[in-house]
Amino acid sequence: MLVVMKAHASQEQVRAVCERIESLGYRAHPIPGAQRTAIGVTGNKGAMEPGALDEMSGVQEVIQVSKPYKLVSRDAKEEDTVIRFAGSDGSFGDRDLGVVAGPCSIESREQAFAIAERVAKGGARFFRGGAYKPRTSPYAFQGLGEEGLKIMAEIRDRFGLKIITEALDDESLVLVADYADVIQIGARNMQNFSLLKKAGRLRKPIMLKRGMSATLEEFLMAAEYILSEGNYEVILCERGVRTFADHTRNTLDLSIVPAVQRLSHLPIIVDPSHGTGKRNKVLPLSRAAVAVGADGLMVEVHNDPDHALSDGMQSIFPDQFDELMEEIRQIAAVLHRNVQRPQTQPAVARAGR
Ligand code: PEP
Ligand code: MN
Repeated sequence: MLVVMKAHASQEQVRAVCERIESLGYRAHPIPGAQRTAIGVTGNKGAMEPGALDEMSGVQEVIQVSKPYKLVSRDAKEEDTVIRFAGSDGSFGDRDLGVVAGPCSIESREQAFAIAERVAKGGARFFRGGAYKPRTSPYAFQGLGEEGLKIMAEIRDRFGLKIITEALDDESLVLVADYADVIQIGARNMQNFSLLKKAGRLRKPIMLKRGMSATLEEFLMAAEYILSEGNYEVILCERGVRTFADHTRNTLDLSIVPAVQRLSHLPIIVDPSHGTGKRNKVLPLSRAAVAVGADGLMVEVHNDPDHALSDGMQSIFPDQFDELMEEIRQIAAVLHRNVQRPQTQPAVARAGR
């Protein structure tokens, strides 16, 4: 076990923690570092109950040294990871929130362009849209495939939005990596370890969605697979988990945001669309997600949700997206964060992917 002290913990606080460790019958090994002191705990009585030290003043975190994830952890990197993009002021993990909006699926060029225009006007910097869809029924719309990717590439050029889309398997991963700015790995694939390793060998940001029954540790370990292959740009996304509750499609677990931020330097955003499955819950839970400290949002927006080929029930209208942006802008300000305004520069002139 390792007790990591806060950067500015006093000598007295360090000493008090050491004394507590010794009084519990263990040995304390204070290890001063450049930024902070860590205190190793040894003893032959087996694992110590971390609760005894967790709440002491000056303690940042109590961790088991045998922790299976390392690179995603704040032990490895204390400061927040910020993911930026060439040719855009959009980012994740920065003071500006990363807002991702768009339809569940790309259905046609007209549909995608109509929605992209509206979300760009609302201030989003990232456009989402599925080209490869993980559908529960094999008979449900499976996505347009590469044609959908081409439409999104046109959207990037036309509106200056960065593109986020899901890769389902090895084959789509190669294509998605070619067209997208961020590769999404969906909830159903969160523990597809071979796909995670392949994504880790790419040099493109990965948005990793939480599996529908994944614990915090399983979520972080999935991200660790990607980092362990050398790709350090991972954005985590909470999208709700399965519970007994049946008034929503999933139960959005907002408490995972501060829990992740305590343990990991990676940015974490929230998807209230899949997290609730209900259009009327998207706005309130977007507000809550920003209030809880999320680094951004992923929201499904559709211009004609009643006829959407997937997830119409949870897709908000473009006008509702505008309202959402206005409201979260005010909430973000309380937390000294910012929700961007629409870009002013003509999109066509903007450089690069
Ligand atoms: C999606 O973003 O459209 C999606 C399928 O999400 P999830 O993997 O969270 O279900
Ligand atoms: Mn969807």
